[in-house]
Amino acid sequence: MNDTIAAIATAYGEGGIGIIRISGEEALPILQDIFECAGEADDIVSRRLTYGRVIDKEQNQLIDEVMAVYMKAPKTYTAEDVVEIDCHGSIVSLRKILELVLRKGARLAEPGEFTKRAFLNGRIDLSQAEAVMDIVKAKTDKSFDVAVSQLEGSLSLKIREIRKDLLDLLVDITVNIDYPDEDIEEVTYERLEDDMVMIRSQIEKLLQTATSGRMLREGIRVAIVGKPNVGKSSLMNGLLHEARAIVTEIPGTTRDTIEEAVSIRDIPVYLVDTAGIRETEDKVEKIGIEKTKEAFNSADLVILILDSSEDLTDEDRQIMEYLDERHALVLLNKQDLGSVQDMQKLHAALPKAHIIETSLLTGEGLEAVEDAIEQMVYQGDIAQQNSVIISNVRHVDLLRRGQQSLDDALAMVRRREALDFIEVDVNSAYESLGEIIGETVNDDILNEVFSRFCLGK
Ligand code: GDP
Repeated sequence: MNDTIAAIATAYGEGGIGIIRISGEEALPILQDIFECAGEADDIVSRRLTYGRVIDKEQNQLIDEVMAVYMKAPKTYTAEDVVEIDCHGSIVSLRKILELVLRKGARLAEPGEFTKRAFLNGRIDLSQAEAVMDIVKAKTDKSFDVAVSQLEGSLSLKIREIRKDLLDLLVDITVNIDYPDEDIEEVTYERLEDDMVMIRSQIEKLLQTATSGRMLREGIRVAIVGKPNVGKSSLMNGLLHEARAIVTEIPGTTRDTIEEAVSIRDIPVYLVDTAGIRETEDKVEKIGIEKTKEAFNSADLVILILDSSEDLTDEDRQIMEYLDERHALVLLNKQDLGSVQDMQKLHAALPKAHIIETSLLTGEGLEAVEDAIEQMVYQGDIAQQNSVIISNVRHVDLLRRGQQSLDDALAMVRRREALDFIEVDVNSAYESLGEIIGETVNDDILNEVFSRFCLGK
């Protein structure tokens, strides 16, 4: 870990500026070796951006005009000496400067190695390091906000609180095992149980945010189904706020499924428009039907559109049979044509489904559809939006493991088993939570986490 690393930190391609980043003890000597101050400055001073030229002195060749900054350890991104060179954002300039830096003794950084050093040097914990990558990869404002809050340490704080409670519990148990005869407060099984139930509920609360977290991070798939001409394309267009799917009055022209990625209320949504489930002899149509069934199975939410101006047809009923009500939204469309649907009957047929009246021709009801999508993502608890949200599968897995260990310990407490056994499980819950912030983590896991990073981060 003592060598000096370097990488191109900006995206490949043309840009106004490109940045080369260097970290380690040799960062400053390397900069001094390849850089000549120009303009006002006559020396490199820590934390001062300096105008000058990068020169290959051996070849006596000017490479680029740049702005360079040296940041003295330890208050830097990696907690080591860091140099950044802002050159023209041409891949040729970036590559030439990087080559020169490597020739002067730096090693090409691995993906995520700068952030890994920040972690290994104790500047940030593991969940904060992971947040850096989430920020870089965020696609919507909300997932960005979740990552920024994690980088600020909101999740770390919560995990540390729970671990503190677990540690108190461990101390009580250990003291009673090791010094049973001393004059110390004896732990009762009742108290152990109370404490464990309390800690378990804190973990549970975090886990409950995981579904929202996953959806905010990966997005949700919404399948739009219904018989031809009922308004599927209109809904799609309404949600897209522009006509990208073809709206037509000829039944069955949406032969294949159309998929569009949009951001609805800051949630990444993949909208799948389908041809509708129908028994048909038409070959092309059949592909559409297969696709509809596929879309049903892979969707997080199915929006079924019915025509409120007509009675239910066999086709409607057929689709309703496939519907998993818990993940369904039913739109009674074409309200402007007058409704002949009996709401009570419909509620009776689909007791768990959320039913909304719409008139997609004018966009009426779209707002309610968006509300329903938002509700589903936040599991009906919009307040969750402002709390710590677990968005990383690694964290979910470790929280589950911690919870499982606590459950095992609780079961033993209830059976009044020996404290030694109980201690083992409480300790493993403590360790699992420690892995989230990187306090009890092995090298393989670290390598796995940082290998997902970009170069130069
Ligand atoms: P799809 O076949 O299910 O995709 O249906 P479309 O979205 O293509 O709509 C079929 C026809 O119904 C189009 O002419 C739409 O303008 C019309 N339509 C859609 N929604 C409404 C509505 O709420 N009211 C009325 N009157 N017509 C609508």
